[in-house]
Amino acid sequence: MNIALIAHDKKKDDIISFSVAYTHILKNHQLFATGTTGKLILEATGIDIHRFQSGPLGGDQQIGAMIADNNLDMVIFFRDPLTAQPHEPDVSALLRLCDVYQIPLATNIAAAEIFLHGLERGDLEWREIVKERQQKEGTK
Ligand code: PGA
Repeated sequence: MNIALIAHDKKKDDIISFSVAYTHILKNHQLFATGTTGKLILEATGIDIHRFQSGPLGGDQQIGAMIADNNLDMVIFFRDPLTAQPHEPDVSALLRLCDVYQIPLATNIAAAEIFLHGLERGDLEWREIVKERQQKEGTK
């Protein structure tokens, strides 16, 4: 599965703890992240991760483009609900696209843990079916 990981600055510690705790699952998937989040995850875990631009410089939009192309299966986005973000429109757009394309979205560590347990159990296999169907229909 293709998984995106993003964390606002005050949630960086959470994403590091999370990625260290779940390295054994994450390492079996293709990972994508905004610039700083990806760098921190790489340093903490050594997992291979594709890094886009930093969030405020367009990274959220790049991840949004992956969703619009049906190339992401899960988004883990630890948002900071208590601090105004300069790129709030990009954040809202990314969350909106998750709902448009029905991409599982976890916005905090409690939800993300459940997602990864579900992933391990095969709860996201339906994504493969959706992707195959879209390829057959030529919509992708
Ligand atoms: P960053 O971006 O990983 O580059 O810090 C995250 C964000 O603020 O959207």
